[in-house]
Amino acid sequence: MDTLKEAIRSIPDYPKAGIVFRDITTMLGDARAFRRAIDELVQPWAGTKIDKVAGIEARGFILGGAVAHQLSAGFIPIRKKGKLPHATVRIAYSLEYGLDEMEMHQDAVTPGERVILVDDLIATGGTAEGAVKLLKQIGAIVVAACFVVDLPDLGGAQKIRDLGVPVRTLIAFEGH
Ligand code: AMP
Repeated sequence: MDTLKEAIRSIPDYPKAGIVFRDITTMLGDARAFRRAIDELVQPWAGTKIDKVAGIEARGFILGGAVAHQLSAGFIPIRKKGKLPHATVRIAYSLEYGLDEMEMHQDAVTPGERVILVDDLIATGGTAEGAVKLLKQIGAIVVAACFVVDLPDLGGAQKIRDLGVPVRTLIAFEGH
């Protein structure tokens, strides 16, 4: 996992002072690292029945789309409010650096479908918690939540485990 960690660029004080932004675009641009990340995210679910992968806008779309393809699963976009054209379910959530609302099409899953949630990074877990709640609200079984990067000091992964959803993360950075 060291090569994966080295492929991620850290940008101090972005988007505001005190935050170290973990930039995965360098990992995405590195063919071997990108492939490794997707292979590792998929590995526990290979050969199991996963109906859909839900990805959180925007970096979760890139990773989640590749994971869905590899698992022969469908893909569900979870978007910022106002972007989806059909009837939606919506939830407010807090970020490490702000507040926002996310939406999902209300017919994005058939009740009982087995769904994996994917995003690039989990910090406080507010985003993933909102996504898990929306998925459950429309009847999904949330099999797991998967992230390339964990910021364990912020406690997000534990927050999701406390909702009864297993969490898989590939690498961790200390602090914020
Ligand atoms: P949180 O809801 O606090 O777990 O924040 C996770 C979401 O915000 C993910 O969609 C991340 O892409 C983004 N995010 C939060 N903190 C960072 C960070 N330090 N570096 C990069 N992305 C971050």
